[in-house]
Amino acid sequence: MKIMKFGGTSVGKPERMHQVKDLIIQDDSPKIVVLSALAGTTNALVQIGEALSHADKKGAKLIIDELQSHYESFYLELLGTDAGRAKALSIIQEHFEFLNIILKINFNEAINRDILAQGELLSTKLFCTLLDELFIDAVFLPAIDFMSIDENQEPELLKIEERLKAILSDYPHQKLFITQGFVCKNHRKEIDNLKRGGSDYTASLIGAAFNAEVIEIWTDIDGMHNNDPRIVDQTKPIAQLSFDEAAELAYFGAKILHPASIWPAQMYNVPVKLLNTMQPEALGTTITAEEQGQGVKAIAAKDGITAIKIKSSRMLLAYGFLRKVFEIFEKFKTPIDMITTSEVALSVTIDDETHLAELIAELEHFGVVEVDQNQSIICIVGNMVAESKGTLKDIMDAMIEYPIRMVSYGGSRHNVSLLVNTSIKNDALRTLNKSLFTFN
Ligand code: ASP
Ligand code: MG
Repeated sequence: MKIMKFGGTSVGKPERMHQVKDLIIQDDSPKIVVLSALAGTTNALVQIGEALSHADKKGAKLIIDELQSHYESFYLELLGTDAGRAKALSIIQEHFEFLNIILKINFNEAINRDILAQGELLSTKLFCTLLDELFIDAVFLPAIDFMSIDENQEPELLKIEERLKAILSDYPHQKLFITQGFVCKNHRKEIDNLKRGGSDYTASLIGAAFNAEVIEIWTDIDGMHNNDPRIVDQTKPIAQLSFDEAAELAYFGAKILHPASIWPAQMYNVPVKLLNTMQPEALGTTITAEEQGQGVKAIAAKDGITAIKIKSSRMLLAYGFLRKVFEIFEKFKTPIDMITTSEVALSVTIDDETHLAELIAELEHFGVVEVDQNQSIICIVGNMVAESKGTLKDIMDAMIEYPIRMVSYGGSRHNVSLLVNTSIKNDALRTLNKSLFTFN
């Protein structure tokens, strides 16, 4: 079994959807195809929810109408037969009727999640209509029939596997299945989702459930690049990454892959390939358990970071201090990314400021608390970075002109993280790129 996931830009134009169709019928190996919503749709759905949460029905209606007219021109280009077009139009009407009904009822979070699911429901149904029109034999698998999360919002991998295998056993000779990314059911049996960008996660969970041969993530770039292509010129795709390296890069800013999508693939040792729909022959990036090559492979950066320093003489020679501090973060469900300590002070970073005031108030029981906002983590990833000689020196030489707020080194064999003020991040990324990749 092979899993092929196509992102929003890969299905965002009628001609791209046709390319996706070509890609999935290239060979007749069994496959499950996971589709995102058309590019821009989920953003529009988020805006509809936001407008409704402020009781702005007029604003919501405007966005709904605009989105509907987008789909009404999309399907005309997508499909060529009267029958296909009639089917597509009825699908579009059904889903927009639903959105219009929502305008009339009281808005709540469960309804918001229903709204967010419409994008993937539409994209998959329209795509299946295209396959039907072309007499391509495929089975449509609604994600809510198998994809589920528990009360902690965690996917229930074993149940997902059980349900999927049961469903597929009804189709012993079928080679092609189409399903939605992102959409799932929660423990209350309501429609829910795997968070923004979650279609990658869907693909990875399905890949794990089947112990698939490969999970292919098709996007609009030729793999994970060695630096942020929006900021740095002449970045290059990285041919191979280990699961750990890819997880660090995805978590610390490489937008191409949802960070949570690594663990299911890693757990079942299923290779993940990042490929480009617009350039299918490009090699892209292959992510496997193997750690290849030496030295720095890639740099990524994550903005919106807050550093919190707790300075306390009570920390001196004390045990249990870190636990007490971390318990406060646990209490407010705030994950910590970077940590550095000295004998009398501790600095941590967080990317979720929801409970910042409460965190500070409680941390102040331990000592003096200082907060620096608008920070960025620059994450430098490679194989054995922390053991290969001179790497740290090269990084620090490149950073010589830039103030560094924190350094995390030695936490793993494949990562060095620097915390800098966001105002210097772009320059730092360019300088690091020049110094670390010139000879690669
Ligand atoms: N459509 C969802 C989003 O835009 C999920 C995805 O595309 O991965 O976040
Ligand atoms: Mg994505």
